[in-house]
Amino acid sequence: MIRVGHGYDIHRTVPGRPLVLGGVRFDCGFGLDGHSDADCLTHAICDALLGAAGLPDIGHFFPNTDPAWKDADSQLLLRRVVAELKQAGFAPVNVDATLVAERPKIAPHLAAMKSALAASTGLPTDAIGLKATTNEGCDAIGQGKAIAAHAVALIENI
Ligand code: MG
Repeated sequence: MIRVGHGYDIHRTVPGRPLVLGGVRFDCGFGLDGHSDADCLTHAICDALLGAAGLPDIGHFFPNTDPAWKDADSQLLLRRVVAELKQAGFAPVNVDATLVAERPKIAPHLAAMKSALAASTGLPTDAIGLKATTNEGCDAIGQGKAIAAHAVALIENI
């Protein structure tokens, strides 16, 4: 049996925090506000995987009131999500995600992000689809006030 899941996440941009997207750190003078490292791409992928398995969302497993997840590396969260899936009898098949960010330029870093996400999910890099787009100056994302990510994931019974 195969199952599909969807995830979405958005975080506000703030000065003075490192920007982490898909497990890759960008030195661009701003980061994302959040309890963990605020890696919205990885969070969207976590929710897609959890949703496919019919499990509760990322906030259930990693509440933002728990000091354990303060500034946490979201790749560790993704690894835990894959472990939760395994416990529920599922394994990821593939993931496809779209990052929506006005800046920084994402394209030069897509390969590194795919590698990090492949390592955390246990998938081959060609099972990780990743695209980046801007919002063409429209809305808060287009004005650089936030970065968002959409993801879908396919999982199968093990
Ligand atoms: Mg998040």
